[in-house]
Amino acid sequence: MDYYGSHISKLIEALQGLPGVGAKSAQRLAFHIINMPKEQVRGLAEALLSARENVHYCKECFTLTDDELCPICRSKTRNHRQIMVVENSRDLAAYEKTGRYEGVYHVLHGAISPMLGIGPADIRLKELMQRLQGDVEEVIIATNSSLEGETTAMYISKLVKPIGIRVTRIASGVPVGGDIENIDEVTLERALMGRVEL
Ligand code: ZN
Repeated sequence: MDYYGSHISKLIEALQGLPGVGAKSAQRLAFHIINMPKEQVRGLAEALLSARENVHYCKECFTLTDDELCPICRSKTRNHRQIMVVENSRDLAAYEKTGRYEGVYHVLHGAISPMLGIGPADIRLKELMQRLQGDVEEVIIATNSSLEGETTAMYISKLVKPIGIRVTRIASGVPVGGDIENIDEVTLERALMGRVEL
């Protein structure tokens, strides 16, 4: 039975499709939106649409950006011969916050997970290998220390080492199963400085 009428039910349904939003949160958000001033709702809707329409992947590192190249890839002061491989743009942001990394990044947009049916072809690995044909000295693997993150790190290491490029892995200190985006800056910085050869 439709308790709320079709408009609000549709809104609840749409919100429920977002990650981390369950039935209860979706209802709470929907009622909050219904009670917001119309102008504010319009602003929210426009922000959603304009982000979706104007944000795309950097053609070099595949992080999210407004331009063809992100500010990091565009920068002349960054070390373009050192590439840190991360699972997503949130992890990139976490490393940027430490202010101690001077290289560039490569965003995979996921990790290999045989259990979820995510294979090497489903993440931006081919694009990484293409970048490595250029002048690259070191690949720092900064995937999460989850099973998927470790599997991905091993896979990349096996691909990259034969090319003769140095491959390192961020050190322990990042707790097992810990998501990089939730780790404090000091720990991340230590993990970076203490990275080990693979
Ligand atoms: Zn970029």
